[in-house]
Order: sequence, then structure tokens, then C-alpha cells
Amino acid sequence: MTLRGFLAIGLVGLFIALAATPEAEGQRRRGRGGGGGGGSSGGGGQATSNNPMSHQASREVMERAGLFKTGLVPRYPKQARCLEVASFFGDRTRYDGSQRVAWANHGRHGGFDISAPEGTPLLAIADGEVVHKHSGGRLVGHQIFLRHGPADTGLRVWIYSKYKHFREPPELAIGQRVRLGQVIGHSGKTGTVGGHYGEWGYPHLHLSLYVSDSGRYKTKPMMVVPAKVRHLDPLALYLPAGRRLTDNHAIQALSEAEKVVAIPYQTPDGRRLPADTRLIWPFMCEPG
Ligand SMILES: [Zn+2]
Repeated sequence: MTLRGFLAIGLVGLFIALAATPEAEGQRRRGRGGGGGGGSSGGGGQATSNNPMSHQASREVMERAGLFKTGLVPRYPKQARCLEVASFFGDRTRYDGSQRVAWANHGRHGGFDISAPEGTPLLAIADGEVVHKHSGGRLVGHQIFLRHGPADTGLRVWIYSKYKHFREPPELAIGQRVRLGQVIGHSGKTGTVGGHYGEWGYPHLHLSLYVSDSGRYKTKPMMVVPAKVRHLDPLALYLPAGRRLTDNHAIQALSEAEKVVAIPYQTPDGRRLPADTRLIWPFMCEPG
């Protein structure tokens, strides 16, 4: 073969690879059906779901259930250093500024991401109970669901917190109670290796919150689905007590000043600020 022929074939091959890969990958992922679980699709094709927690739910179902940017902004403590949010709830971009894939959640982030070195202790954001554990592949990794009842938080609703990408499966058992600030495992990068994050993955915590007026939920392989579930911007947990809304639509309607949220936290020696808080940041903050 001549050198020119060889180069031409190489270029054609490269073109085909560039043109075909994203589509093929999209097809493969869609083919998995449940994707974000939901369980109602059974896998295959252009499955949609009435479960707003499913990656495949329609835009309308998701927006009604509160999956959009609320505009809440964290105010981190001046007297301590906290790991900070790198990609907010509802964001269309990842921590590095790249665009999220459109096939999941219509490109919107279903929780927030905090970049964290592998092995950083993860804290229970409130008293609660372990209701689900799952170890999955891409975009999931080792994950856990906690359920926080009104008696745990002082809120009127039930909160479900989903933590993803644990370094190893959490040692907690289903049904086990957890206390505010308890170490529930260690952050990692499981489920992030491959795809956008490449072979090194992206060590971080992804935290999603879901709200329900009742403590009832269904158990699916990859998740729990609370009755009449809605999304909640995780920053909403830390709104001041007088304004502790749990409806993203109402939160979005707050004024800009009201959307600034002071972060309550725990230090490595177990102190909490404010001392009487029942909800805290999922990582310890270092004083000084
Ligand atoms: Zn995330």
C-alpha cells in the first residue's frame, strides 16, 4: 500500500470513530432502560417513566417534581474550611465546566457534587435510617439511601438522602439507625471511571435529596421510590428555620437575598455550629 493510501484509510477510520462513538454510546446507555432505575421501563428503546427519580422521566414530570435550578447559594463559614459544591443541583455542567449528557435528566444535575479526596469521611446529614444500599456500574458505584423522618429533622416532610460513589460499600445495614454527623462511610470515585471522567474517574460525593409527605416508599433494585416523590435542592436543608422550604418551586420564588444559605457544619473533634443544628454538611469542616 502506498503511504497516501495508508494515510487516507487512517483518516477515514478516525472520522468513522469520531462520528460513530457518541451515538453508539448513547444507544448502549439508552438500551439499558432503567438507567436511573425507576424500574418501570424494563429496559429498551425510548423508555420514559412517570417516576421523576428515573433518568428517563419526561421533562414535564421532572420539572413538576422540582428538577430545575433553584438559585440557592451556599455561604461557607468564615472560621472553618469546608469542601465546597463543585456542581449544583439543576446544573447543566459538571465540576470542570463540561456539559452534562442530555440522555440523563435532560442534562440537569439531580443533586450536588462535592469534590473530595478518596477516603474522606462522609457524615449523615441528619438522624435517620438506612433504607437502601446498592452497588452499580457507571454513574452509580456504591450508594446508599437514608430516610429522615419529621422526628429526625424537625421538618414536616420526609427527606430521603442518596449518597453516591463511596470508596467501598458502606458497612451499615438496611434498617439501621444513623445519628446526625455519624461517619457513614468514605467518599470515593466508584461509578465514575470511564466515559467523561476517563480511567482515573472523579473522586467526589454526589448527594441527592428527595421529599415526600409520607414515610412510605417502594423498593427497586437501584433505589427507593418514596410516595409522591419530589426533588429537593440539597442546599434547601440548610435554609434558616423560619424559611425552611421543601418545595423547589417555592424556593425558586425566594428573593436573591433569601437564597443565600449559611452552612451548618461539624468539626473533626465533633463540635457542631450552630450547636443545636439538626442538619449538617456531609463533610467535616476544619477550623482555622
Ligand atoms: Zn452529581
